[in-house]
Amino acid sequence: MVVLQGVNKHYGSLHVLRDIDLTVDEREVVVLIGPSGSGKSTLCRTINRLETIESGSITLDGQPLPEEGKALARLRAEVGMVFQSFNLFAHKTVLDNVTLAPIKVRKRGKAEAEKRARELLDRVGLADQANKFPAQLSGGQQQRVAIARSLAMDPKLMLFDEPTSALDPEMINEVLEVMRSLAAEGMTMIVVTHEMGFARSAANRVVFMADGQIVESRPPAEFFDSPQSARARDFLSKIL
Ligand code: ATP
Ligand code: MG
Repeated sequence: MVVLQGVNKHYGSLHVLRDIDLTVDEREVVVLIGPSGSGKSTLCRTINRLETIESGSITLDGQPLPEEGKALARLRAEVGMVFQSFNLFAHKTVLDNVTLAPIKVRKRGKAEAEKRARELLDRVGLADQANKFPAQLSGGQQQRVAIARSLAMDPKLMLFDEPTSALDPEMINEVLEVMRSLAAEGMTMIVVTHEMGFARSAANRVVFMADGQIVESRPPAEFFDSPQSARARDFLSKIL
């Protein structure tokens, strides 16, 4: 579904993505891990073109990523992204947060958008919070609204960049549970996370990055039980 070939990117003299080759198949869950600064967020952001690349190619369902205009807006709708900070609209209710983009971008009717939003809020366990404002919710609840908001666009692919890193420990699981259920339903997902339990149990593949390169790309059990590179062994010894 997503194919990156020979992708390179610099920030000034810093070479942040080096010859990245990565294929993510439909329904696959790829967890991206690696030291701080290794290029995980940058890699995610190239896939919905929040970042441009200098060489190489990225295709989604065989099509090169669009560069501008309506096609780019469509890409952003098809590739959902959930960040560490929830970025909800503070002055809109939960329901309005979830219906806004479908009405504006997908041109759905209000009633249809609201019906779908309520289904999605139910799915993330927030059916009873639709009329609240973001500030009235916990961090974990806000992040689940952010996930529902992305899902409302019927994405083909979901990118998660450290979705639980800003949450208090007791709220991490409720967000991971929603992600696990999405994975189980066959959503194609790329997830940057430090939650190694999630990586082990939900990922089809772990991609380990260091210094802008993909160093290992293997099923989680193999990766965690017998990392092949010194870089990965060193990284795992620090976090596990
Ligand atoms: P972390 O685990 O800390 O989130 P990461 O693996 O996501 O790290 P990136 O955010 O992709 O790493 O950053 C890769 C490198 O690019 C880092 O050295 C970072 O400082 C640098 N970088 C990221 N964004 C920019 C930017 N907009 N301008 C200049 N340098 C940047
Ligand atoms: Mg990052």
